[in-house]
Amino acid sequence: MQTVRLKPKEHHRITAGHLWIYKDELVTAPSGVPGELVSVETFDGIPLGNGFYNPLSKIAVRMLGEPTETADTDFFTRRFEQALRLRERMLLGEEAFRLIFGESDLLSGLIIDVYGNYAVMQMLAAGMDIRKQHIVDALKHVLPNLEGIVERNTSQTRKKEGLELVDGVVFGEVPQRVRFTENGITLEVDLLAGQKTGYFLDQRINRQTVGALSKGKSVLDCFCNVGGFALNAAKGGATRSVGIDSSSSAVEAARKNAELNQLDACTFIEANVFDELRSYVASEQRWDIIILDPPSFAKNRGAVQGARAGYAELNRTAMKLLTPGGLLVSSSCTQLVAEHELMDIIYREAARLRLRLRLVHRAGQAPDHPILLSMPETSYLKFLIFDVIGET
Ligand code: SAH
Repeated sequence: MQTVRLKPKEHHRITAGHLWIYKDELVTAPSGVPGELVSVETFDGIPLGNGFYNPLSKIAVRMLGEPTETADTDFFTRRFEQALRLRERMLLGEEAFRLIFGESDLLSGLIIDVYGNYAVMQMLAAGMDIRKQHIVDALKHVLPNLEGIVERNTSQTRKKEGLELVDGVVFGEVPQRVRFTENGITLEVDLLAGQKTGYFLDQRINRQTVGALSKGKSVLDCFCNVGGFALNAAKGGATRSVGIDSSSSAVEAARKNAELNQLDACTFIEANVFDELRSYVASEQRWDIIILDPPSFAKNRGAVQGARAGYAELNRTAMKLLTPGGLLVSSSCTQLVAEHELMDIIYREAARLRLRLRLVHRAGQAPDHPILLSMPETSYLKFLIFDVIGET
């Protein structure tokens, strides 16, 4: 096994538990097979553990968090078992859950979501990609009921690792639509063509929260995807629950999900949320609850300014549409925009409109997306609920 050495003082972040070593933190970046296991040491030669090395990536080494001789099926089986134990403890029998959340499960570059008897994996690093077979074998071992496994390896971030974009079934058979229950609602998702791994499991508890607030209310679910928040609102007794999404397949799936659950208060509109909200302002519509759950607005620092402007516009427009005493439910999955920044953006927009807002609830990603304290990169989801009191 090759050994790579860090420059002086670059080991502090790693000994504190961070898992990434950037290329420019290495004394030399040797050639090597993308994904090969290396041993890492400080400038003074003190061993720091092992990691997957990729000479093509800016993140040159992804540490495994503990010394390991070989990253084989047994290794993945042990890690998956540990991950499953945490989920079993935290999720109380949910059928769909994130089994592996990358770095937070000490498996940098690997995501695995489980939907009943099916699993979807994403490999975002070469070290995981070249061990696909070990990962599939370990997964089958840890979840013996699995009938099918899909890989959705089409994320653009794979290009930074020198990896091809591929997807498809890698084990067993997977039906066009997979059914599971979340918060007592039956959902059908498309694991082969839906967005990300097919569904956004990180908002499960937040959907429950919205459901519990919706009785007798009109609810607008912006960026609804396959209907998550809108369906929970309708189940919670909303008089009217409308979802908006620009993806026709997502809207079609959302309609099907409303039908499956006989949630007649739900309707779905295929549209651009920004345009749709503007037209509601023009026609002076009012809603009791508006949920904003847009996709990530910035994947890198260069895009953060634009992301802030996007949140400002969205939240400002939504505030104009709320009844006095209405609730603004504002979520953001942009890791590079912190909760306090989002709150500040919303405060400024409220002040511009001379509206008084109170924060009544704050939350984040569900416990199957744990946050590794030594890696702030694993904390990304913000979920804030504001009570719009009225004018200042
Ligand atoms: N709220 C969803 C997850 C939202 S993911 C849930 O609970 O599951 C973000 C969604 O925004 C995607 O479905 C995507 O199709 C949609 N989207 C992206 N840009 C959009 C836009 N400008 N207008 C409407 N929808 C958009």
